[in-house]
Amino acid sequence: MVQSSLKTPTQASSQFHHQKKKPKLEVCNLNKNFNQQHKQLAVLKNINFQLYESEFVCVVGASGCGKSTLINIIAGLIQPTSGEVKVDGGIVLGPGSDRGMVFQNYTLYPWLTVAGNIGFGSRLRSLCAKQRKERIAYFLEVVGLTRFAKAYPQQLSGGMKQRVAIARALANEPDVLLMDEPFGALDAQTKEQMQQFLLNLWQQTHTTIWMITHDVEEAVFLSQRVFVMSSNPGEIKQEIAIDLPQDRDVEMKLTPEF
Ligand code: ADP
Ligand code: MG
Repeated sequence: MVQSSLKTPTQASSQFHHQKKKPKLEVCNLNKNFNQQHKQLAVLKNINFQLYESEFVCVVGASGCGKSTLINIIAGLIQPTSGEVKVDGGIVLGPGSDRGMVFQNYTLYPWLTVAGNIGFGSRLRSLCAKQRKERIAYFLEVVGLTRFAKAYPQQLSGGMKQRVAIARALANEPDVLLMDEPFGALDAQTKEQMQQFLLNLWQQTHTTIWMITHDVEEAVFLSQRVFVMSSNPGEIKQEIAIDLPQDRDVEMKLTPEF
């Protein structure tokens, strides 16, 4: 049974005794305006939060409230109007291998095999051939796709494609895994299997994850804290601390079919 309680951000953070820990990801006084039809549209307003090592945090909010803009700024794909993003204390100036990114539409390289996609990250490409091969084999196994190593993305189902995208991001050993509605394009059954899969992966690896979803149930099921973003302009207006039982029973089904 999942219990949740509404708390202010300060109360929620103190519950997790984070004061002594160093933040893995920090977003400081972040603002973003877009030019739309010769007008300035304020999309993000004074966003502040911290994410600690091994935390799994979800962000929910209505469509258009600025979730993708925020994650793309964290990923270094777009520049903020003002404010800062820090990973392990270092200011983010653009994309970098310290952040892995998983998009809703998979964005796999269609000309590369599954193994080629997983081995694409810059940290992997800097390894010697033997180490790189071993790392690819390990992550193929993690996502249950060993026998699809030589397949191409277009031969895979949606769930399998997203597992390749997750493996590609994780194989590059990011400090933070960023995910923008990763299961938004999947059917209900596949989505549920992928949620189980992701939770199991997180319980095994304790990767720091910051994930956007518009599905509140998914957020409560997966994460330890949920940020709620408001619209016009987007702010994190509320933080929900979720008191999750640590021994959640996650069933692992690693059939390649889903
Ligand atoms: P969400 O991911 O929460 O659905 P987005 O971050 O995609 O929201 O978009 C937030 C708002 O910013 C929307 O009103 C959208 O139209 C606007 N927006 C996003 N990208 C741009 C852009 N490149 N130029 C102008 N406006 C944009
Ligand atoms: Mg979006």
